[in-house]
Amino acid sequence: MKIEDLAPAHVRAIMPYVPGKPIAETARELGIPEADILKMASNESPIGPSPKAVAAIRGALDELHYYPDGNGFELKEALAARLAVAPESLVLGNGSNDVLELAARAFLTPADSAVHSQHAFMVYPLAIQAIGAKAIVVPAKDYGNDLAAMAAAVRADTKIVFLANPNNPTGTFSPWEEIRAFVERISGRVLVVVDEAYGEYLPDELKSPTPRWIAKHPNLVVTRTLSKAYGLAGLRVGFAVADPAVAEVMNRVRQPFNVNHLALVAARAALGDEEFIARSRAVNAAGLEQLARGFERLGLEYIASRGNFITVRVGDAARVYRELLAAGVIVRPIAGYGLPEHLRVTVGLPQHNERFLAELEHSLAGGRGSCAA
Ligand SMILES: *Cc1c(COP(=O)(O)O)cnc(C)c1O
Repeated sequence: MKIEDLAPAHVRAIMPYVPGKPIAETARELGIPEADILKMASNESPIGPSPKAVAAIRGALDELHYYPDGNGFELKEALAARLAVAPESLVLGNGSNDVLELAARAFLTPADSAVHSQHAFMVYPLAIQAIGAKAIVVPAKDYGNDLAAMAAAVRADTKIVFLANPNNPTGTFSPWEEIRAFVERISGRVLVVVDEAYGEYLPDELKSPTPRWIAKHPNLVVTRTLSKAYGLAGLRVGFAVADPAVAEVMNRVRQPFNVNHLALVAARAALGDEEFIARSRAVNAAGLEQLARGFERLGLEYIASRGNFITVRVGDAARVYRELLAAGVIVRPIAGYGLPEHLRVTVGLPQHNERFLAELEHSLAGGRGSCAA
């Protein structure tokens, strides 16, 4: 027997999450300075972190010998006030990835199933598989969630439906009335986890109303993050809004100190940084427009996006990815998400988007070294 066979089969079968290629690794491999690398691969903020969050962290550095507040009292108070929910409805996480896993761990057993869409965020199948539960994958419709098919896919053993709105890696968005009709159609004994990692990028008229529905639908769980529009991906802080009874169960399976002190302090400061969020949204809207116009100019098909990234069909995506990488531009291949001809690119500053589009054009025109062929 091999030592790894001690792990159950469902754990051994897990395919590790493949993150965007780090800047330092790319710089090392290409032998060029890190400053020359442009990373548009992980949906990180192109305008850096919220300055208010950075200032709050500086002010908290002398407190690092203390354990963090395991209940996140102050951050929960701030979130509760903003969302008009009770602090008891909140579950804080080491990124929203953590709360997605807490939902799986608190509610799924190997005898259960969970539903998600094709082209969905990779964390859902990973969280389901880590339990040994069965994932029911519903074919996408126009690259997005096919809500009717997802509702129909729920079986007697289904405990959770995971869906992201907007969706990653496709950027598709379902109007909230459709999400509401979906929640109303799903049995109350199935949790519906609506992942709103990109919600802050939506225009005001599309702002998410979901936390208000929880009083009527205690099986609804909404997850959000400070990683994207607030620019705090490196700190790891996210949260779930849920019925207090659901939140209580999720809190039982988390580590007592799952969110670190600096993350708690920074998140609270970032929430009040309206100016930063406004800038984040404006830069993103302009960048999405710039990238879409660029793709049209190059004759490329793209998926209209409501996120901070856009997914474009380039044909031989593995080759284009490698050529962009050789030029110091890191984007995200998404063959692992069932889209082998597409690349996902995170919205950057205008000059970033321009550099990416120029390198993309170069690659599509024949690329590096192809004249030798
Ligand atoms: C980025 C992302 C998250 C957030 O991850 P964190 O763990 O909060 O950094 C969650 N869901 C989706 C769909 C995402 O793309």
